[in-house]
Amino acid sequence: MNQVDYLRISLIDRCNFRCQYCMPEGTELDFIAPDNCLSAEELLTLLQAVFIPLGFSRFRLTGGEPLLRPDVVELVRAIACLPQVEDLSMTTNGFLLSRLAPDLYNAGLRRVNISLDSLDPQIFRQVVGGRSDRWTQVWAGIQAAHAVGFDPLKLNVVVIPGVNEHEVLDLAALSIERQWHIRFIEFMPIGNAGLFGERGWVPSEELRQQIRDRWGLTASQVQGNGPADVFQIPGAKGTIGFISQMSECFCDRCNRMRLSADGWLRPCLLNETGQLDLKTSLRSGVPLPELRNQVQHLLMLKPEINYKGRESGTAGASYTRTMSQIGG
Ligand code: SAM
Ligand code: SF4
Repeated sequence: MNQVDYLRISLIDRCNFRCQYCMPEGTELDFIAPDNCLSAEELLTLLQAVFIPLGFSRFRLTGGEPLLRPDVVELVRAIACLPQVEDLSMTTNGFLLSRLAPDLYNAGLRRVNISLDSLDPQIFRQVVGGRSDRWTQVWAGIQAAHAVGFDPLKLNVVVIPGVNEHEVLDLAALSIERQWHIRFIEFMPIGNAGLFGERGWVPSEELRQQIRDRWGLTASQVQGNGPADVFQIPGAKGTIGFISQMSECFCDRCNRMRLSADGWLRPCLLNETGQLDLKTSLRSGVPLPELRNQVQHLLMLKPEINYKGRESGTAGASYTRTMSQIGG
C-alpha cells in the first residue's frame, strides 16, 4: 500500500481566469464566502495537529488561483518553516507571478507549476477567457519565476483536442534549452464534461509518439513521486512528463489527499465518498485528537475509496465540484 503523505491544499476557489475545462465563462459558480474558507490559523492548526502527525510531509498550494489569496505569502512562510515539511510547492496560473515571485521565493517556496496551455496568445485567450494580454502577463510570470530561481519550474499543459493539440512539439521544445519541465495533462471530464465531445482527451501515447518521431524520447532517470511518467528528449536540460489519468489509470499508486478551501478533506479526486468536513468540526470544538483519529480512519479506507471505474478509459462518474473547487 502506498504511503499517503502528500496533501493538495486549495487556498481559495475563486479565479481570475475562466479556463474552458475548469470554470468556463458563463457558468454559474457558487463561490465559497470568505468566512467559510479555512483561515490561515485554522489551516496551520490542521497541518500541525492532524496532518503532520499522521505522516504528511509534502504539501502543494493550489486553488482556484492561490495567488488571489491576500495572505498567500504569509501562509507560504508559515508552512515552509514547519520543520516536518519536506516539500512545499504551488500550482498557479502565473498571472500575478511577475509581481509575487520574489516574495514567494523569499518566504520559502522553491517549487512552482505554472499552467501554460498555449504559446499562441490568441489560442491562450480562447482557453482561459478574458483579455488578450493574458498570455504576455503569464509569460512574464514564468520568466520572473525562472529569474528568481524556482527549481524545478514546471509548466502544466492540458491538451485539448482541436485547440492546442498542434502545439505539443513547440511546448515540448521548451524543455530543450532550459531546465523547464513540461507536464502534459489529459483533459478530465470534471467541471465541463460536455465540452470536447467524443474525443475528450488526447492519449499521452499519441503525444509521446509525435515527440519520439521528432527528437527521440528516453525515460528520465528521475521519475518523481507523483502521477507523471517522466521522459526526456536526448540532451535536453529539462524533462517532459505525462499525466495520463484517462488513458493509463494510476489510481493504484495514489499517494495524496485534497483539502478544499472550505475545509473538506477528500480522499480521491474521482470519487466523492468519504469526505470529511474538517472546518465545521474544528469550529464546533471537536478535539484535535478526535479529528486526527477521523483522518487516520479515512487513510485506512482510502484504498477502498480510490476510484476503480476507469480501467476502460472512460469516466462514468458525475462530479458536483469542479477542479477549482476541489483543489486540482
Ligand atoms: N489556477 C491554478 C492553475 O490553473 O494552475 C491552480 C488550480 S488548477 C485547478 C490546477 C491544475 O488543474 C491546472 O494545471 C489545470 O490546468 C488543471 N485542470 C483544471 N481542470 C482540469 C480538467 N478538467 N482536466 C485536467 N486538468 C485540469
Ligand atoms: Fe482558474 Fe486554474 Fe481553473 Fe484555469 S484551471 S480556471 S486558472 S483554477
